[in-house]
Amino acid sequence: MQIFGPNELLEDVHKRDLCIGCGACVNLCPYFKNYRGKTAMLFPCTLSEGRCYASCPKAELDMDELSSLFFKKPYDGSPLGNYRDVFVAHAGKGMTDGAFQAGGTVSALMVFALKTDMIDAAVLTDHKGMVPAPRLVTHPEEVAKCATSKYMAAPTLAGLNQGVQEGYQHLGVVGTPCQVMAVAKMRSNLLKKEAFVDPVALVVGLFCTWALDTRELLAFLSKKVEISRIRKTDIPPPPAEVFIVETGDEVIEIPLEAIRPLVPNACHVCPDMTSEWADISVGVLEGAPDRNTLIVRTERGERLVQEAEEAGYLILDKMPDENLEHLSLAAANKKRRSLNRAREEGLLNSPADGPRAVLRIAEEVVQGIIG
Ligand SMILES: Cc1cc2nc3c(=O)[nH]c(=O)nc-3n(C[C@H](O)[C@H](O)[C@H](O)COP(=O)(O)OP(=O)(O)OC[C@H]3O[C@@H](n4cnc5c(N)ncnc54)[C@H](O)[C@@H]3O)c2cc1C
Ligand code: SF4
Ligand code: SF4
Repeated sequence: MQIFGPNELLEDVHKRDLCIGCGACVNLCPYFKNYRGKTAMLFPCTLSEGRCYASCPKAELDMDELSSLFFKKPYDGSPLGNYRDVFVAHAGKGMTDGAFQAGGTVSALMVFALKTDMIDAAVLTDHKGMVPAPRLVTHPEEVAKCATSKYMAAPTLAGLNQGVQEGYQHLGVVGTPCQVMAVAKMRSNLLKKEAFVDPVALVVGLFCTWALDTRELLAFLSKKVEISRIRKTDIPPPPAEVFIVETGDEVIEIPLEAIRPLVPNACHVCPDMTSEWADISVGVLEGAPDRNTLIVRTERGERLVQEAEEAGYLILDKMPDENLEHLSLAAANKKRRSLNRAREEGLLNSPADGPRAVLRIAEEVVQGIIG
């Protein structure tokens, strides 16, 4: 993958309005900061190659390179990426109750990974008011405090960089697909540092069709409800087509049409719905809001899921074929939409002497996806 510096990051990502605010470039140096969902560069820097560019999921992301590194084969564009198994899952009795988004599978996995010392800290997404904020968690009992989805682009990976700085060597990360892509880039040692040691022992990826811009969502919701009263938001799977806001005493349904304009531009060129570069990916099971879809992708992910089930932290069931078909279709549609858009905007596979690309995917694979 080609690596450049912070000025190219500003040009390729910020000026094209493609920064998703994932936090991967924050806490690496004093220059990049995230405030209420927006990442900005505070002072000029003239490095020609930087960890900021090397970590960014929206800059020169080469899918073949990532696939060769993590799955030992070229990227084939299959809808759900590489996987070993798929289950219906929810948290078992080993897990204390919590206000989970769906089945509590993600929280159960992180608690179990902390308790068994697979990880020494978990990088999670908490909130300050309604604004999502990274949180480094070292005690299993703190995991559930970060449960539920904040349907906004979050600077979660600033917490990963903080964890590395604080000396944690076995970090567990929960992130959206773009964050998981950034983590994959970070783990690839693209700057070829001799002393590099991969600090990430577990990646749990979430499914994501799109997120919302934090500032725009807060401005939008403040016209409908007192923000401090909001306890939970939800986007139930199709055909619901609503964004649900729960306060202590009322449930407000907002048609998805009304909030779609708040989706950042970056989401429209994002090809990954199921966090393909994670060890384990988790979403909500269609038709069952208290259950998760769980995709096992790697050997270490498989081991964790098996052990968590044996220890009573996870309950696993067979995935119905129909659910798997719908999921594949939704993921394939996202790939097709995003690659068409990226192609229209000149962001896919740009020539060596042209502008830099956001995404690089072998042309025959692109044709297989967009048809
Ligand atoms: C922006 C966004 C979009 C999503 N879109 C879909 C979708 O289209 N289809 C689908 O099936 N599922 C989607 N999900 C995932 C789903 O909402 C649940 O997070 C997932 O099913 C896990 O449920 P759980 O009960 O196991 O989670 P819990 O046990 O409640 O844990 C939730 C975890 O999510 C993390 N988290 C919360 N908000 C964020 C955030 N903004 N960024 C990074 N991490 C976060 C927290 O750290 C926590 O560990 C989305 C999630 C997010 C954050
Ligand atoms: S690394 Fe993340 S926060 Fe930084 S420029 Fe890229 S998308 Fe934005
Ligand atoms: S759609 Fe893609 S870019 Fe947007 S928040 Fe989800 S994973 Fe990130």
